[in-house]
Amino acid sequence: MKKIFLVVLAISIVSCKQSEKKETEVIKPVVKLHQLIGGSIFVKKLEVFSQDTTYTGQTKQFTDAYYVISHPKGNLMWDAGLPESLIVPELYHEPSGVFAIQRSDSLVNQLKTIGFKIEDFKYFAMSHSHFDHTGHANLMKDATLLIQENEYNSIAGDTLKNKDPAVSELKNIQKLNGDYDVFGDGTVVIKYMPGHTVGHQVLYVEIGHEKPILLTGDLYHFEENRTSKGVPSFNYDVKQTLESMDKFETFAKEKNAEVIIQHSPSDFEKLQKILNK
Ligand SMILES: [Zn+2]
Repeated sequence: MKKIFLVVLAISIVSCKQSEKKETEVIKPVVKLHQLIGGSIFVKKLEVFSQDTTYTGQTKQFTDAYYVISHPKGNLMWDAGLPESLIVPELYHEPSGVFAIQRSDSLVNQLKTIGFKIEDFKYFAMSHSHFDHTGHANLMKDATLLIQENEYNSIAGDTLKNKDPAVSELKNIQKLNGDYDVFGDGTVVIKYMPGHTVGHQVLYVEIGHEKPILLTGDLYHFEENRTSKGVPSFNYDVKQTLESMDKFETFAKEKNAEVIIQHSPSDFEKLQKILNK
């Protein structure tokens, strides 16, 4: 009896060791990240990016990046730049007087430069539904839109009188409530960080050979915004934004992630250097 017990114990120790070994041997899939420029935004009144007069009289050049994430289980597009109607020779000065905007090329042509087609995407997600992130959204008809339920209800909900035409063509909708691990292996994770809009989200991507990348959406618009925790005047909720900033910084630290501010031209350059390695 004693002997049998020892044998059982020995087997269970061995199998326990094997499963430990298995866990450390899990090989993460190869995930690739590409970035494209969905437009140029010249901010003529930078003060809209503050709750006070900090930036009064200042201007700033923004870029408007969008991203392609390629995973063995499918491709995801993150954000959608400015509308293709802004592929015009001169900067367009929009009526509010804050932005001068322009897009350089179409989605089809830009995807071609990295070897992709519109039909190649299983998923499409936007950090949020402002005009500089929904530009070519309606072209992503074949993909499933991953969107927070509250964000969806704020732009396309059944009870809305004025729905956002920028996403009206999209019919495959997966509504999220909080963080979402897109491919189920922790390599590509949508993180719910509300405040800029009701359902604003950021994206965590593990690209393997380098530090993981954390794309900010519009949680921050430029570097000083991050250091001073500046909240734009047009945000949905100031308190929620500040909470999301804290959550974001804790998560970035925990993962030792490279933070990329999507509207920052210098972060675009920084990410390109990482991706070219
Ligand atoms: Zn934006």
